[in-house]
Amino acid sequence: MIKFCSRCCMSDQKPGVFLDENLLCNGCRASENKKKINWDERWKLLEEMADNIKKQNNQSYDCLVPVSGGKDSWYQAYLMSTKLGLKTLCCIIAPHLPTKEGIHNLNEMIKDLNVDTLKITVKPSTLKKIRAKNFFVQAEPNWAEHCYVFSGVVNTALLYDIPLIVWGEDVAVEFGGEQHSESTASALDINENDLAGGKSIYDWLDPSFSQRDIFFYLYPEKSRLENAGIKSIYLSHFIKWDGRKHYEFAKERGFRGREKGPLSGNYINFDNIDEKLCEINIWLKYIKHGYWRPTDQTCYDIWNDRLTREEAVKIVKEKQDEFPKEYFEDFLNFHNISREEFFENIEKHRNRDIWEKIDNEWRLKGELNINYSPDISDKK
Ligand SMILES: [Zn+2]
Repeated sequence: MIKFCSRCCMSDQKPGVFLDENLLCNGCRASENKKKINWDERWKLLEEMADNIKKQNNQSYDCLVPVSGGKDSWYQAYLMSTKLGLKTLCCIIAPHLPTKEGIHNLNEMIKDLNVDTLKITVKPSTLKKIRAKNFFVQAEPNWAEHCYVFSGVVNTALLYDIPLIVWGEDVAVEFGGEQHSESTASALDINENDLAGGKSIYDWLDPSFSQRDIFFYLYPEKSRLENAGIKSIYLSHFIKWDGRKHYEFAKERGFRGREKGPLSGNYINFDNIDEKLCEINIWLKYIKHGYWRPTDQTCYDIWNDRLTREEAVKIVKEKQDEFPKEYFEDFLNFHNISREEFFENIEKHRNRDIWEKIDNEWRLKGELNINYSPDISDKK
């Protein structure tokens, strides 16, 4: 039986989530902690770090910022290049199926920030194989992207001898996932976060591609990074991270939300809209863990005091059964998978602990209710 947080509507099925004695989830606890942090002090630490780097008079760049043209990375790159005045290289990990809005936003961002950019596009044939394997084996095709984004960016810093890598948010802290420790500045272990799920590219090698094809998927040894004096940080440790504020910021500068409005299951039109392959990946969380976009998006707004639980419950109930149809055909074509194979695999991964079939329809065990009643939710 699924239990839900009493303050937001996060499900206890999210990996790493545990509800405490007040039935609050990790995300709610983290948002309370964020309110107690002295952000002015944290910002000063970042300024000091930036000043020290500028003094080094680096031959190449002072810092490397991975960007997608999304609202968050736009703000990230702006802070480092314009506000802190660091010689910034933006690294674009190119999506293989970009959207119209994604292309527009990336172009606008480059014009707006006026920085050098470097684009990495990994070999399509290898990517397709790794994604398809991840879809069939662990119902998580975008593991491939997470792997090569983390590793590709860090390898680029090594190649170009760039002393600072600036990531956006620490996903475990910001989105209430598995947190092994308090928020830290260092992101050197980013390859071990929730999105990587304890796996490396070696878990997916097979005879159809080899070591020669995976340079950008291989995370360098930590000692190499330390010896090269490379720091890797989460900006969310130094500023009060707020996705909606970043959206307002980027919108003023040319960022566009999705023209046709929110995608199925979404209630906002500016979240991960730059490419077409991630939406199915997010929907697969619904099959495995019983929640996806509407829960993620509404909880985030509750944590940032922009939505009530009551409003969120209505949205989640209205949206969570929508199928991400918009880019479904693109997904099938990209991996050369038939509809039958797709849905057969979905049923293989459907978590029977939380799903049951009633009147020939799959229903979640445990209903999200406006009036929170732990007695009901606690009944097994
Ligand atoms: Zn919560």
